[in-house]
Amino acid sequence: MPLMIGLTGGIGSGKTTAANFFSDLGVDIIDTDVISHELTEPQGGAIAAIREVFTSKFITAEGALKRKEMRGLIFSDSNARQKLEAILHPLIRAEVSHRVELVSSVYGIVVVPLLLETGQYRDLIGRVLVVDCSEHDQIARAMARPGLGEQTVRAIMATQYSREERLQKADDVILNTSDMAHLERQISVLHRKYIALASRS
Ligand code: ATP
Repeated sequence: MPLMIGLTGGIGSGKTTAANFFSDLGVDIIDTDVISHELTEPQGGAIAAIREVFTSKFITAEGALKRKEMRGLIFSDSNARQKLEAILHPLIRAEVSHRVELVSSVYGIVVVPLLLETGQYRDLIGRVLVVDCSEHDQIARAMARPGLGEQTVRAIMATQYSREERLQKADDVILNTSDMAHLERQISVLHRKYIALASRS
């Protein structure tokens, strides 16, 4: 199995942006958010189970998950959130295991927003890379995307580890506290480090 780096961070911290820079350097990326979307697209692998647990109220006529409605439910009802996670997490994890086998770059990156909270990927990853930024920046960046108001962003943050908890568990940290060039420089340094580590393992 190739060296896999688990990339995590709070909502809006810059995980996708960081992953894209690694991708530009030729690193294979497995993004659990992408897999989650695929599973909840029309006729995706999670739709039948979601329909059974949450009824057709949360499924569009085309057979996709009604994301906005479901987001509204799960961040006001932790029981519902757990039920959705119980459906999605095992399916995502199975797909990640499969895609790790297909990694052909010197090392790979798996992007998991709740990597540390769930502890689910420990056996697949060699190191934890945390993207860190202030909560103020996190909220501003997350809200820059359509559909997410401050209340929803704060509710999502409340379900995630705090900045301090995440940093404590990190092997490596990207400080996404400045501009894109600052981010890119840190990723170049980490890329060299991971190539060196992969060649030793
Ligand atoms: P989520 O958890 O919601 O999926 P994320 O951690 O993947 O978010 P990104 O989507 O990478 O975060 O970044 C959130 C937004 O902030 C994006 O619009 C991105 O372009 C912007 N952004 C990220 N890093 C920086 C930066 N250093 N300077 C300016 N904007 C940034």
